[in-house]
Amino acid sequence: MSQLSVVGTGVIGNGWISRALANGWDVVAFDPAPDAEARTRAFVENAWHALEKDGLAEGASVERLRFAATLEEAVVGADLIQENVPERLPLKQEILSAIDAAAEEHVVIGSSTSGFKPTDLQQNCKKAPGRVIVAHPFNPVYLLPLVELVGGEHTSPALLEGAREDYQALAMRPLIVRREIEGHIADRLMEALWREALHLVNDGVATTEEIDAAVVYGCGLRWSLMGTFLTFHLAGGEPGMRHMLEQFGPALKLPWTKLEAPELTDELIDKVVEGCEYQAAGRPVAELDRRRDDFLVELLTLTRKY
Ligand code: NAD
Repeated sequence: MSQLSVVGTGVIGNGWISRALANGWDVVAFDPAPDAEARTRAFVENAWHALEKDGLAEGASVERLRFAATLEEAVVGADLIQENVPERLPLKQEILSAIDAAAEEHVVIGSSTSGFKPTDLQQNCKKAPGRVIVAHPFNPVYLLPLVELVGGEHTSPALLEGAREDYQALAMRPLIVRREIEGHIADRLMEALWREALHLVNDGVATTEEIDAAVVYGCGLRWSLMGTFLTFHLAGGEPGMRHMLEQFGPALKLPWTKLEAPELTDELIDKVVEGCEYQAAGRPVAELDRRRDDFLVELLTLTRKY
């Protein structure tokens, strides 16, 4: 039996907790918010229904979750520690140095950070800074298998290999990122699409619903089987990518895309928020979560066949 210790139990921390419980792990959590435990238990209950459908590991139980009164108490006995506090570098550095001081030296400490580099996260850690790595998951963490693992200047390749095994034991698909950069790999890609989408709304070209339809009924369907490169390899016909680049390569130079972030004016914020509220049609996020989860469970079953 293994123990995951989770520090910070918001959307992502709770996702890690649900994943670990579903895989039969013990979980000890810490979050100073007064309603944290109640929020987590409600979150796990909402996620459990999809996790049951996807198949629970032997011994999986929500009873294996315990909240600790302090961060130091939470990391005792951990086989793996996951930090998920808000995305502010000074806060992350403070929390990670406290975890590093309290945890046994051989235990990997993964940070869920979407953007910070591991070397910056390791900066205030005195005991074993190399074991503080980026372990960046995707929402909903309890269903999406990818976790990007990134080491900093104090991290050895052997430690990253060990971390790969730790996350595989949580039924994840770890991707070791070769070099640390802000935003790692997947968020760099998602940010590029997100910037373009915001420009299209800002320029009055499309509504949020229309842009989402372009993804859901078009490129998004293919992306769950093949990524950008293999998709475009097929788009080139025989002989694949070489022909694709010859034909469409020159178009890359056309000034279609904007690349820079649009100004988040009040007007743009209102348009985007109103667009999303229209799409949600009064359904609370937890209800939309369940709809997404049911779909993802079927999709995961399908992707495992291919
Ligand atoms: P969130 O705001 O939902 O949760 C943050 C939690 O941290 C809250 O429960 C808060 O009470 C707790 N917290 C605050 N101070 C704390 C402290 N001193 N000690 C312990 N807990 C503390 O945020 P989130 O969306 O879960 O993001 C957490 C991390 O995960 C961020 O680094 C973010 O970049 C990353 N991430 C987010 C997503 C996403 O889609 N939301 C995806 C991947 C990674």
